[in-house]
Amino acid sequence: MSNNGNEKHVKVLVLGSGPAGLAAALYAARAELAPVVLTGMQLGGQAALTHVIENYPGFPKGVGGAELGELFQKQAEYFGAKVEFDTAHEVDFSQRPYIVKTDSGEYKADTLIISTGANSIHLGVPGEVEMTGRGVSYCATCDGWFFKNKKVVVVGGGDSAFEEALFLTRYASSVTLIHRREEFRAGAILQRRAKEHPKMNFILNTVITEAVTGDKLETLKLKNVKTGEESTFETDGLFIFIGHSPNTDMFKGKLEMSDLGYLKVNDKMETSVPGVYAAGEAADPHFKQVITSAGMGAAAAIQATHFLEAESA
Ligand code: NAP
Repeated sequence: MSNNGNEKHVKVLVLGSGPAGLAAALYAARAELAPVVLTGMQLGGQAALTHVIENYPGFPKGVGGAELGELFQKQAEYFGAKVEFDTAHEVDFSQRPYIVKTDSGEYKADTLIISTGANSIHLGVPGEVEMTGRGVSYCATCDGWFFKNKKVVVVGGGDSAFEEALFLTRYASSVTLIHRREEFRAGAILQRRAKEHPKMNFILNTVITEAVTGDKLETLKLKNVKTGEESTFETDGLFIFIGHSPNTDMFKGKLEMSDLGYLKVNDKMETSVPGVYAAGEAADPHFKQVITSAGMGAAAAIQATHFLEAESA
């Protein structure tokens, strides 16, 4: 990396430090490209907020999300990657090297690997925003401890809702999963574990219509979508796991993306701008696994390496 005051010039700049970004950094580092990773707001990405990851190969009994992120980081750093606690907020692809403005200054990058991940989707009901941090949460690993011996509700029917609901049973006296229909998307193993757990209850065909505001969360308003019946439910916590949306606003109008905001990549992880690659959930509307994100990151770094080699040949 060449450093001229606050402006740094790098061959490979990786945006985001989840599995995709750190795998990309590992591969680019081993290609001796001295990549720089900007961590973004969450070191380790969403995976680091996951209590245990049981489907990443090599860990027969599972591994903590934060621990796996640290291992990824150490391995990338061992081979020469630099991880900076910095967040990108503006990109300029109009000329090369590309310019990335960050909290700390500006980077010039010959190639860019975008692995900015995704953020939790909000329910969008009255009281949700006001009660966030007062009972409403999007992270069981971060906030579960505050609900020791308390009643919590989890909303969602996918893997995240089930995994996090099971994690919350460690602390809470009861965990009620509220889902808008009868079938779940979550995998069979998680469903079985949750259904067999003595602390877990289920309310189906039901949506939350309001988190009643106050000093702390006490009451949710519910509506049965089949009967139309409205009711209230007393709870100390509401954990929302209804999916994620890609963190790609910064690239609007600059890179091709789907209607839902996922960056469009071809099978070489190339975006619509030469030398700019995308990997992980920012570009993956389908799989969203640690292993697939890491694989996309590796592929992006291999392509960035080929791109730079071809340019210097
Ligand atoms: P998801 O699979 O998209 O599930 C979202 C759930 O929230 C669905 O059940 C959906 O209901 C419900 N939902 C969506 N909008 C809602 C709303 N406005 N009100 C009420 N409910 C709403 O999301 P995810 O669970 O976060 O998982 C995302 C991806 O990561 C998936 O591919 C998943 O397999 C993967 N993941 C995997 C693991 C693992 O392998 N261990 C762990 C976590 C996540 P409907 O079903 O009715 O649409």
